[in-house]
Amino acid sequence: MLAQVELKKEAMKAERPENGTPVGAIPVIQAQDVHKYYDLGETKVHALRGVDLTIQPGEFVAIMGSSGSGKSTFMNMLGCLDKPSSGRYILEGTDVSSLDKKQLAAIRNRKLGFVFQGFNLLSRTTALENVELPTLYAQMEKEKRVARAKEVLELVGLGERLDHFPSQLSGGQQQRVAIARALVNRPAILLADEPTGNLDSRTSVEIMQIFQDLNDSGLTIVLVTHEPDIAQFARRTVVFRDGKIRHDDPLKNRPRAADVLKNLPMIDE
Ligand code: ADP
Ligand code: MG
Repeated sequence: MLAQVELKKEAMKAERPENGTPVGAIPVIQAQDVHKYYDLGETKVHALRGVDLTIQPGEFVAIMGSSGSGKSTFMNMLGCLDKPSSGRYILEGTDVSSLDKKQLAAIRNRKLGFVFQGFNLLSRTTALENVELPTLYAQMEKEKRVARAKEVLELVGLGERLDHFPSQLSGGQQQRVAIARALVNRPAILLADEPTGNLDSRTSVEIMQIFQDLNDSGLTIVLVTHEPDIAQFARRTVVFRDGKIRHDDPLKNRPRAADVLKNLPMIDE
């Protein structure tokens, strides 16, 4: 799989000249004094309480914090699934709060790739068709769409499983299909909310290896996890508590998932 990633890396680089954090680059994400209230009639939940965060192209950020600290609320906003109650969210230079539903859907499809804890694959649909799905909204010929879908499935090491249905794949393989689906429209950012939450330790590190390889090739990644063992593979950790950012630190000497895998026992897939 690594050899394939190496091959594709050059191709992806060429298509992302903006990545690699050149001087003066536009941040991919700028959150400015973001507040979020959930109105429950009698009570109001103040889920985000003044969040400021800037993420540059090519970063790999792990968002951490205990349950209820606001991680998913923040990710939903980053993913344009929800808007801040106040404050600004600027995505690649565009103030998202000014956009309507249709424009938000277009931005989601074009700029963002999503990976979730529960994979969210269509069960009666093959790996290839699942990955092809997001390309249906793009103006692209069928042949090109299939080629793209195959390419990203190869990138995540599933070139031999194109015609398998989700039920014929392990959890780790299903998550790789979901990653391929997230990548097929060549997003600017990959957003992952607890992507290893349903996976065993070895498979989780394998997923982190894919994330590190993708990030090395220039993809910006924002990952939510409550597991320090998973967060350690990122380049930066941001810790939420009570709807605020409490820590924001670069990770020095982070391990390579590929090295960690050498010392983990194999599990039959
Ligand atoms: P985390 O992902 O860190 O566990 P969340 O962002 O899911 O935290 O939740 C932050 C706070 O907002 C919690 O108090 C939670 O109960 C509340 N909350 C989250 N989503 C909703 C919602 N849709 N409606 C009302 N309250 C919510
Ligand atoms: Mg959550």
